[in-house]
This record gives sequence, structure tokens and C-alpha cells, in this order.
Amino acid sequence: MAKYDLLIVGAGLYGAVFAREALEAGKSVLVIDRRGHIAGNAYTEETEGIQIHKYGAHIFHTSDKRVWEYVNRFAEFNNYRHELLAVYKNELYNLPFNMNTFSKMWNIRTPEEAKRIIEEQVKEAGIGEASNLEEQAISLVGRDIYEKLIKGYTRKQWGRECSELPAFIIKRLPVRYVYDNNYFNDRYQGIPIGGYTAMVGKILEGIETRLNADFFADREYYEALADRIVFSGMIDEYFDYSLGELEYRGLKFETELLDTENYQGNAVINYTEYEIPYTRIIEHKHFELKCQGGEKLPGTVITREYPHTWKRGDEPYYPINDDKNNALYEKYRTLAAKEGRVIFGGRLGGYRYLDMDKVIAMALNDSREAL
Ligand code: UDP
Repeated sequence: MAKYDLLIVGAGLYGAVFAREALEAGKSVLVIDRRGHIAGNAYTEETEGIQIHKYGAHIFHTSDKRVWEYVNRFAEFNNYRHELLAVYKNELYNLPFNMNTFSKMWNIRTPEEAKRIIEEQVKEAGIGEASNLEEQAISLVGRDIYEKLIKGYTRKQWGRECSELPAFIIKRLPVRYVYDNNYFNDRYQGIPIGGYTAMVGKILEGIETRLNADFFADREYYEALADRIVFSGMIDEYFDYSLGELEYRGLKFETELLDTENYQGNAVINYTEYEIPYTRIIEHKHFELKCQGGEKLPGTVITREYPHTWKRGDEPYYPINDDKNNALYEKYRTLAAKEGRVIFGGRLGGYRYLDMDKVIAMALNDSREAL
């Protein structure tokens, strides 16, 4: 007889929430992760009193009250509000696209003026139904903003021209004709005080968790341990890449500890011109509001983010949801449906860009269905 009711592969948000729900439903659970830490890509690590987002900026935001109440059981959230800045050749703009962006771009003041300029530029471009990211971007915000704030950044981030990328990528950015720099439209927003690792640690409290434990290194052993398996890793790897490899965009992070109190005055600044090799610089202390009076720290930690071509063995970040990859993913789904005792989930299992709140909602729904 198997030792556990459930083996959960992956100690990220999906695996951790699934494990918690299983434990509370009276199941015996083992969680394994091949990395040496929990929390997946949301992992934070403290350096010099600052929580470092080791796999890039993670800002929690949601409109889902159930998810907000859920995470608040495991962490207290601060009142961080994401207001992004973008630099293009020494010009500084607010993002997402709002009246502050338009005012700076065209030296105007009213929503009417902004609408008129954007409409003129859209008309000039002669785009009907947008069939790719370039057309989608121009029809949302016009050519000037596309050229300065979108074209180079997107090309760096994805390694492809905007005309070769799906339109939906840019749709997650708000466009608004009010002076509001809040990056998200969601009702709830913040960063867990003490970091994401502590929050996931609490979610996993009382659950046996083995780190540096690679499912694929000892597959037969792990498969025999439990009646059912929850798998939140890469779906193609699970099937030994038998139908081919799904593609991702990779990221490299270059982190520096600086002997200055405040390096850039904002948590994230994007560098939108193509010639600068990184896409953004994160200054981690600002996520914790550590320059706003109260606790002041003498040093700061910054991270430059460089996108790169992904190859097998690299950490997978952004799924490349073009037609070819989506079709391959569907084939893997068909295989997955036949694996009766395995549940595939999370960002990698779903091969989709997913915000953290969506991952948690998915784990809550899937566990409710399965348990
Ligand atoms: N984007 C852009 N310029 C920016 C920020 C974003 O063109 O300064 C576009 C780009 O195509 C990117 C997409 O918007 O891939 C989504 O950006 P988001 O900030 O949501 O990406 P994330 O931070 O989640 O990786």
C-alpha cells in the first residue's frame, strides 16, 4: 500500500495550496521540489534586511475576495501599490498607459486631447482587426507610444518582433484616460510582510516537504509513494518530451548590493529601448516601502533582468504561446487526460502566463474537485 494519499511535485504556490487543502481534508501528503527552497518563482530571500525577489518582481494583486482572504490567513500584506516607470533615451514615462504618460508624451492636459491624438495615429496606421501585438498596441495607444515604450521592450522580452507575437500579451496592460499610475485594476494589492517564502512556509506548515528532491531522478520510487500525484512542473518533461519540446522565454538576473540608500526611487523601472540589454531594474527595498520614513536602511539591492533564449535545463519563465506551441500543448493535454491518477496544474502545467492569484484560485478549485 502507498504511504501517502498524495504526492505533490512542486512546492510553489500551486503545490503548496493544494497540499494545504489536502491536509485540511484529512489526507496524508508529501511535497517534493527539486530546488533547494519552497515558494517556486515567488521565492524571496533576505539580504541586508531586504527581501530579494530572486526570480523577478512578484506583486500580489487580485479582485478575487476568496483568494485575498485565503492569502491573508498566511501573511499580513503591506500597502504597496505598483506604479511603474519606463525610461526611453533618458525620457521618463509613467506606466501603465494613462493621462500622465500621454501628457508627458505630447505635452497635453486633457483626456480629449489624448484621445484625439491616439485616434489620429490609429487611423493613419489603417489597422482593422488587430492580428498581432504590433497592431494591437498601435490600435490601443497609437504609434508614438508603440515606438518609444513598447516596440524595443517587447522585442527584448520575447526575442521576436511585435508583428510576430500574439496580440493578447499586451492586453493585460491597462489603458486609461485618467491620471492614475496604479499598474493594476484589481481591488486588492500588496506584498506579504516578511516575504513570499515565509508566506508559503506557513501554507506548508505541518506538511512533510522534501527539498532537492527531483521527481525525475527517482521516478519509480516517488510514483510508488502515493496513490495520487499532483504535478506542477513542465508537462512535456513529465511525458519525457515524447511529442517534442514546449518553448519558454528564459531570464537571467544580475544582482548588486549598493552602498547607497536609494538608487532609483522606485521598485521597478523599465528600459524600453532595444539597445539597452536588460528590460528592467528592480530595487527590492521599495516593495517593502523601506524608503518612506520609518525603517531606513543604509544600503540597497538592485537586480537587472535580461531575457534570453531558453534551452532545456534552464528555468522556464514565460511560456511562448504561439500557434505551434499551443498545438503541441493540446496534444500533451490529451496524454494528460489519460493519466488517471495525476492532476496537472499551475503555471507550468497549464502552459500559460498566470498571475499568482490565478494560480491559487486554480489550486483551490482543482483540490476541491479532486479531494
Ligand atoms: N510592455 C511593453 N513595455 C513596457 C512594459 C510592458 O511593451 O514597458 C508589454 C510587453 O509586450 C510585455 C507585456 O506588455 O511583454 C506585458 O508586460 P507585463 O509588465 O505584464 O509583463 P510581466 O511584468 O508580467 O512580465
